[in-house]
Amino acid sequence: MREATRVVRSGLTAAVAGEAMQLGPVFAGPFHTPGHPAGVRYTYGGSGNPTWTALEEAIAAIEGAGCAGVRVFGSGTAATAAVFGAVLRPGDVLVLPEEAYFGTRRVVEEYFGPMGVRVRTAATRGSAQAEAVEGAKLVWVETPSNPGMEVCDVALICERAHAAGALVAVDNTMATPMGQKVMEMGADFAVVSDAKLMLGHGDVVLGHVAARDVEWLDVLTAWRNRTGAVVGPMEAWLALRSLPTLPLRMERSSANAMRIAEFLLDRTEVERVLYPGLPGHPGYEIAARQMRWFGPLLSFVLRDRGMAERFLATAALVTEATSFGGVTTTAERRGRWGLDAVPEGLIRLSAGCEDADDLIEDIGRALAVAAR
Ligand SMILES: *Cc1c(COP(=O)(O)O)cnc(C)c1O
Repeated sequence: MREATRVVRSGLTAAVAGEAMQLGPVFAGPFHTPGHPAGVRYTYGGSGNPTWTALEEAIAAIEGAGCAGVRVFGSGTAATAAVFGAVLRPGDVLVLPEEAYFGTRRVVEEYFGPMGVRVRTAATRGSAQAEAVEGAKLVWVETPSNPGMEVCDVALICERAHAAGALVAVDNTMATPMGQKVMEMGADFAVVSDAKLMLGHGDVVLGHVAARDVEWLDVLTAWRNRTGAVVGPMEAWLALRSLPTLPLRMERSSANAMRIAEFLLDRTEVERVLYPGLPGHPGYEIAARQMRWFGPLLSFVLRDRGMAERFLATAALVTEATSFGGVTTTAERRGRWGLDAVPEGLIRLSAGCEDADDLIEDIGRALAVAAR
């Protein structure tokens, strides 16, 4: 069976006459646990829930070869912290991308760094991290980077890191496991903020970690339990409901992003377009090799902050909001947060699933107004 078919059918229960086709959320604190708890699968909602299990199995099927299993967490940030907490000890060297997601940089700067983890950074572009693996315990990779859209070679970094005895974790939020099979490329961990493209409806905060070894999976399970970084059953169920449309959302939003990127390239109001699906992008060759879909996210640079703000205020079909990967097209001037080293006029746009012609007409109109 091909992947899109598998993902679309991932929410179905076994064909038992009279049973619901789709699993509902199991709302539970305690589960019946008579006598000795050994062998009882679910005892308490903080350590396990059948709705989590169904979601973890559905996600693991998408992560594919090289994935021993998945654990879901309360957010992408909780999933990130779980890998750091499970793997890193004082004195260990962590290699981070220079342009790592701001939340990842901050949890390291504010917690893991002060607790004794030594941090080394290298650029995503040119796969510079592959040259920075000596003596490292963990190499953290993010490709494409957010919002700079830099690309690196995951298989190459995994090969160099493993040769040096280091583990590799890839933050695969941007591409999702459908867009980029990082476990197949050799990653030891894949971390995803499922709140973005993976689930795509803007109604949940949730994350997951996929692990290559069952031993690490056990460590992650323990971390989730000890720190309480859990998902509510309602969120896990919403996730199960959203996952089957990933192939459709991926196909449409990637196609829309490509159309918009090509359209922006030809517009004189736009100084730069950053999208790994464009042949002129510095990471295009690697992206074309390792990504199955280029995804919905692109960045483009307008003259200055004022022009970017006018664009966002004018575009009617581009909803101003943070985050990305939803069915609705959204965008924001990334510099407004002061968290990333980006030009003041940089707009990060997440193409949704609308009709591309409507989006392009609207964006064209807004650009003309903003340039005045
Ligand atoms: C959003 C995001 C995260 C954090 O995930 P949350 O679910 O918001 O906690 C991590 N990495 C990347 C690349 C992200 O975009």
